Amino acid sequence: MLKKFLPNEHVKSIFDIHPGVLKQKGIKGIITDLDNTLVAWDVKDATPEIVQWFKLMKEHDIKVTIISNNNEERVKIFSEPLATPFVYSARKPLGHAFKTAAKQMNLKKNEIVVVGDQLMTDVLGGNFAGFYTILVVPIVQTDGKMTRINRKIERRILHYMRKKGKITWEE
Ligand SMILES: [Mg+2]
Repeated sequence: MLKKFLPNEHVKSIFDIHPGVLKQKGIKGIITDLDNTLVAWDVKDATPEIVQWFKLMKEHDIKVTIISNNNEERVKIFSEPLATPFVYSARKPLGHAFKTAAKQMNLKKNEIVVVGDQLMTDVLGGNFAGFYTILVVPIVQTDGKMTRINRKIERRILHYMRKKGKITWEE
């Protein structure tokens, strides 16, 4: 069970995810979380760096879908200027939103990576739904109300897995 909390890969930030490397692995799509993955949870709009990252993915024909447990207003205001598909109130770790996104991108599971900053939602959900998962370090150390509870559990899981030698990265 705990294995399902382990990402396939761990990187510092979304900017460590490069189209060339993805393509080599046969990846054609990214399902990414929003809050603390693309921007800090309390930042409304995409930063110029994020706009650039989306542009880069587009240039390389890598499709990107944002799926977030946050509400319609938050996700819409962020995603629409990027002209990227999005799912709000996704209820991760439940699998429905992941599967809907994959279908909309018209890609197979093994052509998609799931990216996010939380074990309890992004990694667990992505793993359960059968995707390759990439964990990023949260952009800021604070979280929205709902996430704070998840973080407490997450810290315990991380601590346990480090002790067991299942995690080698440093925060
Ligand atoms: Mg997040």
